[in-house]
Amino acid sequence: MERKITLSEKEIPDKWYNITADMPNKPLPPLNPGTMEPIGPEALAPLFPMELIKQEVTTEKYVDIPDEVRNIYSMWRPTPVYRAYNLEKMLDTPAKIYYKYEGVSPTGSHKPNTAVPQAYYSKQEGVKKITTETGAGQWGSALSFACQHFDIECEVFMVKLSFLHKPYRKVMMNTWGATVHPSPSNETEIGRKILAENPDTTGSLGIAISEAIERAASDEHTKYALGSVLNHVKLHQTIIGQEAILQMEKAGDMPDIVIAPFGGGSNFAGLAFPFLRLNFDEGKSIRCIASEPSSCPKLTRGVFRYDFGDTAGMTPLLPMYTLGHDFVPAPIHAGGLRYHGAGVIVSQLLKDKLIEARAHDNLEVFDAGVKFAKAEGIIPAPEATHGIATAIAEAERCKREGKSETILINMCGHGNFDMKAYEDYFAGKITKHVLSQEEIDASIARLNTPLIPD
Ligand SMILES: *Cc1c(COP(=O)(O)O)cnc(C)c1O
Repeated sequence: MERKITLSEKEIPDKWYNITADMPNKPLPPLNPGTMEPIGPEALAPLFPMELIKQEVTTEKYVDIPDEVRNIYSMWRPTPVYRAYNLEKMLDTPAKIYYKYEGVSPTGSHKPNTAVPQAYYSKQEGVKKITTETGAGQWGSALSFACQHFDIECEVFMVKLSFLHKPYRKVMMNTWGATVHPSPSNETEIGRKILAENPDTTGSLGIAISEAIERAASDEHTKYALGSVLNHVKLHQTIIGQEAILQMEKAGDMPDIVIAPFGGGSNFAGLAFPFLRLNFDEGKSIRCIASEPSSCPKLTRGVFRYDFGDTAGMTPLLPMYTLGHDFVPAPIHAGGLRYHGAGVIVSQLLKDKLIEARAHDNLEVFDAGVKFAKAEGIIPAPEATHGIATAIAEAERCKREGKSETILINMCGHGNFDMKAYEDYFAGKITKHVLSQEEIDASIARLNTPLIPD
C-alpha cells in the first residue's frame, strides 16, 4: 500500500456539505439577548456579507463552491492523506493510522479553506475592509492571505499571549498586507476597559472577538469574519472530509474512527461531517471524536445552555457547550483551543451522542506531538497534538483488545511557527493545567443566560 494517498486537482469536490440537512435534531435558534426572542438572519447583516448569512441558515444539503474559490483552493488542494506507518510501528499497534495533512496550505493550517470563500463573497458585496481576531495566529494569517488576494483591507486583533509567543505570525500577516494589534488593545472601547481593569491580562479569544466586532460594527464598509464556530465556517471546511473519503476509498480502506482537535469545531466539522453523512445515509457507524485541552474542557466538562460567543456579550446568545463567556483559559500554547464555547451544530451533535469528546492534559499532548514528529517527520501545531493524543490512546486500546481498527486524524496544521511551545516543553516549563471542579463551577455560576430544558 502507498504511504501517500493523493487525488488529482480535478477531484477537488465542487460542493460543500451542509450537515444540518441530515441532523435528526436541528440546532436551536440563536436568541436576541435583549428580548430573548429567536433572531432572524437579518440581525447578522451589519457584520457579515449576505451570502454567508444565507449559508449560515441554509437547509440545502449541498452548496456549490464558486469556480474562483476552487481555483484558489487548487493552489494547495487536494491535501494529501498519509498512512502513518512509522507511528504504528512505534506504538506497536495493530491499528492502522492515517492522517489528512492540512499543513500544506500557504498559511500552514486548514483555516484558508474558509478564509478564501469569506473574502470572495465579501468582495462580491463591495466590502472594503474585514476585521477579525486571532488566537495562535493561524486564522489571522489565513484571512490576511485571502484578503490580499481580493484586494480587501484586513485588520487583526491578536490575543496578546500569542502576539508575544509568535512574533513571526505577525510578520507573516504583515507580509500579506494586514494590520495587527495585540489584544486587548487601546484601539477599541472594550479593549481600553479591560486594560484599565487588568493591565497584565494575556487576553483571550473572547476578548479579541469583542474588539473586532466593535470595530466592524462602527463602519458600514467594514465587515467581520470568524474563523470557527459559525455554521458557514464549518460548511466551508467540509472540503477536507469529502476529499478524505475519496482518498480512503482509493486506499481501499475506510476509518472506524475519525479524530480531530477541537477549538470552536471547524477542523473537526471539516473532517468529521462528511463521514457522519455516511453514518446518516449509508448506515455506517464511524466514531467521530473531538479532542480538547483539559485546561479548556467545554465539551467534556462544560454545560449545554445558551451563552455569548464573545466575552463582552456582543454576539447573539447561542445554544452550545460552554464554560461561561468570561472564562479565561490558562495560557497554554495551543492558542486555537483557548475558546470558552463550541459551535452550535457540533454542540447539538454531542448532546445527541452522535459524536464523542476527549480531553488531554498539556503534558500528554506534547508527548504525543514529539512522538508524531519523531515517527512521521512533521512537527504538529500544538492544537493538532490533541488529536494525535486521542489517536494514540485509541491505537493503544486497539493493541490491548487485539483489534486492527482504522483511525483517521485531522493533522490540521504544522507547528513550524510554534517552536516556543516545543522549547518550553523541552525546558520542563509546561505544566498539566487541569481545571479544578471549583474553577469550572465558579465560571458557570456567573452565567445568567437562558438554560435549555432537556
Ligand atoms: C484554529 C485552529 C484550531 C482550532 O480551531 P477549530 O475551529 O476548532 O478547528 C486547531 N488547529 C489549528 C492548526 C488551528 O489553526
